[in-house]
Amino acid sequence: MKVLVVGGGGREHALVWKIAQSPLVEKIYCAPGNPGIARQAECVDIKVDDLDGLLEFAKAQAIDLTVVGPELPLTLGIVDRFRAAGLTIFGPDAKAAQLEGSKVFCKDVMAKYGVPTAAYGTFTEREEAVAFIRKHGAPIVVKADGLAAGKGVVVAQSEDEAIAAVDAAMLDKVFGEAGQTVVVEEFLEGEEASFIAFTDGKTILPLASSQDHKPAFDGDQGPNTGGMGAYSPAPVVTDEIYADVVKTVLEPLVEGMAAEGCPYNGVLYAGLMIKEGEVKVLEFNARFGDPEAQPLLARLKSDLVPVLLACAKEELAGVELEWHDKAAVCVVMASGGYPSSYEKGLPISGLDDAEKIDDLIVFHAGTALKDSAIVNSGGRVLGVTGLGDTVASAIDKAYSGVKAIDWPRVHYRTDIGGKALKR
Ligand code: AMP
Repeated sequence: MKVLVVGGGGREHALVWKIAQSPLVEKIYCAPGNPGIARQAECVDIKVDDLDGLLEFAKAQAIDLTVVGPELPLTLGIVDRFRAAGLTIFGPDAKAAQLEGSKVFCKDVMAKYGVPTAAYGTFTEREEAVAFIRKHGAPIVVKADGLAAGKGVVVAQSEDEAIAAVDAAMLDKVFGEAGQTVVVEEFLEGEEASFIAFTDGKTILPLASSQDHKPAFDGDQGPNTGGMGAYSPAPVVTDEIYADVVKTVLEPLVEGMAAEGCPYNGVLYAGLMIKEGEVKVLEFNARFGDPEAQPLLARLKSDLVPVLLACAKEELAGVELEWHDKAAVCVVMASGGYPSSYEKGLPISGLDDAEKIDDLIVFHAGTALKDSAIVNSGGRVLGVTGLGDTVASAIDKAYSGVKAIDWPRVHYRTDIGGKALKR
């Protein structure tokens, strides 16, 4: 088979790395890919939102399966376009991807089908949003409706901060159209976890549990990022909670989406807040988490390709997943200054030494080639992923790789996986 993976971050490197192990696959293309991905796939210079270019390429190369990493092409309708052209593609169509593309759609579906989530209001008028904030008080959360590259959510500690967030979205239009409607919702306390499942719109096949680390600095301090590291399994998701999430979150959601006339097909990602055994959903995403994909795919024993095909062909019933009996920890190495501004083009040393370590995989995200050297080219640069018999030994393994790698002003958290050890 010929497979096309769309995207060029750490998540897509993990997908390519896993797909490359499938005996079913002869050739992998990745658009646009990155220098790490280029070792397992042929990278083609097509942007993820260039749907015409991607479709033309897939037709010309007679691609048997296309796997979409990021949310943007999904919300733009890549799946609809490929299916209309008779191509097999893994992911939700544009209507179903609204679950991630519109916070209002997501909250309304949750409310209608009884999925536990924070109480909320939806506003297109600034004054009404302000009145809601004044009525409910702080802390309170303001969310731009549309995609805002992970920056559209403000957890406000005061009413003034919440109103400033409303003004930034609605008056200053910092998120463009995406912020013309806002959701204001109740602040939830607890510990966050990620719950990811495959579904073909009927059958649900949950993956192992995982946990991301969004804040930039140790101890969950500093601004939120795309994710500074992740690990799996996550002990906060006990067997009881796992079963509860399938029953009270995934089943009603998948049934609800079908009832709404937009059956959900692909990876369904639930961002959870867990407090004293009680689960509420913060958001749904329409794709694998990045960096959660890195430890999850590192732990997955089953061939991924038949699972992706079964979803795309709505034949997921009876498919099972096998896992390596190991924990995995991914530490993100980022450019100094991320998530704000940072310098690019700095040469990265030690990659070869890190890659010699057993049970360690260095996934590339924001890297580029400059004069045949690998340099940083994005905020999140590498996802150094270690496997171990326990989370503790996987942490040690991942950091042994991190210590081998260096570049000027590199930044990483030193406490990834620490929450699992406290339990
Ligand atoms: P979201 O994109 O909706 O998941 O929001 C991004 C991040 O904001 C989440 O990972 C949480 O850390 C935080 N967040 C979102 N909604 C809430 C909420 N209702 N209460 C507390 N924190 C929240």
